[in-house]
Amino acid sequence: MERKREISLKRADELKSRIQDYLDVKDSIPKGLYMQDMFEKSKKKIMQILNATESDWNDYKWQLTNRITDAKTLSKFINLSDEEIKQIDEVGKKFRWAISPYYLSLINPNDKYDPIKLLSIPTILELSESDGHLDPMGEEYTNPAGSITRRYPDRLIINVTNECAMYCRHCQRRRNIGQKDQHKSTEIIQESIDYIKSCKEIREVLLTGGDPLTLSDERLEWILKELRQIPHVEIIRIGSRTPVTMPQRITDNLVNMLKKYHPIYLNTHFNHPQEITQESKKACEKLADAGIPLGNQAVLLNGINNDKYIMRALNHELLKIRVKPYYIFHAKQVKGTTHFNTSIDDGLEIMEYLRGYTSGMAIPTYIVNAPKGQGKTPIFPQYILSRGKDYVMIRTWEGNVIKYKNNPTVNFKDIY
Ligand SMILES: *Cc1c(COP(=O)(O)O)cnc(C)c1O
Repeated sequence: MERKREISLKRADELKSRIQDYLDVKDSIPKGLYMQDMFEKSKKKIMQILNATESDWNDYKWQLTNRITDAKTLSKFINLSDEEIKQIDEVGKKFRWAISPYYLSLINPNDKYDPIKLLSIPTILELSESDGHLDPMGEEYTNPAGSITRRYPDRLIINVTNECAMYCRHCQRRRNIGQKDQHKSTEIIQESIDYIKSCKEIREVLLTGGDPLTLSDERLEWILKELRQIPHVEIIRIGSRTPVTMPQRITDNLVNMLKKYHPIYLNTHFNHPQEITQESKKACEKLADAGIPLGNQAVLLNGINNDKYIMRALNHELLKIRVKPYYIFHAKQVKGTTHFNTSIDDGLEIMEYLRGYTSGMAIPTYIVNAPKGQGKTPIFPQYILSRGKDYVMIRTWEGNVIKYKNNPTVNFKDIY
């Protein structure tokens, strides 16, 4: 008895040592839930310059129409050199940018490498890149009708708009963004819906863009209603970054409308724990309370989150606001974004230090998108080291190598 307790205590000490490195750095990782005072200060300043009231700020239409889109205006809010102003406008001629006042308020002015800034404000690096393609996924070749992208047997995407609250500098679909906001026409959407009607095997429809939540409630409801009239469409999934970049969009009206069309799922896109704020928490809670399961699709980005500790913190912060980490995408070679690219080794190291070290709930799947629209491919650290006829050699999360007996499956009808 005593001895068992002794062994257990020794093992517990060993387990504590496995997490000590994370505990040592955890508190130095910027987390939005603990930066409220700084955000409030920036918000006050932005509201003053834009002559806005609190109710303006909380109105997503105000956030959308007051997105900052030129460097001169931007320089009123954050410090920019003349050179930077020139460069930002130069990049803007080729790749559009815009940032909602809310998302702007999350920039830490004292951090030269602030993740919010890197994710939203253009740098000249976007123009100095010669490699990369605009459409590495060959999406133009997987468009059977309307604004559909179909890459899988049982599910597809309808792109409903090119508009976003903020244009991510790492956007992998930037060729769709163009220079002007444009929701897809009723004809194009109708053509997409008709295609889905004619394909009985489609059981899930994803609404994406751009950001589908830049559409009005009425427009969105029309699409949902049409889709719900198709008996074989079981699941509707919305892909939206508004919980991150414009949480004011998640209104009571919106969630009350959405929940009429269940089962509705929503996947969002947090990349850094600094993006998880009181405001975005409120938005996610509202969605979750309406019965909408939430997932997160992060992109692995150099200088933002290609770090095993930042990614662990991100996934923990997500679970606190009831968002389940779903995917980490390896960044593709998209023109104008290649400065964000990392090696696959970075992604594998992150995955290596999630499994076992933290809850399985906090572990997304790491995905490499195969070229030419051949689909998402999961990438894992090696856990099977070798295999023979009777045994497999496996490795535990701590690196212990174990010979594991591999029994053949007997035909169950021979034994039952
Ligand atoms: C990512 C994607 C989906 C959804 O894939 P899941 O693995 O189910 O999340 C569906 N269609 C297209 C074209 C996609 O790119």
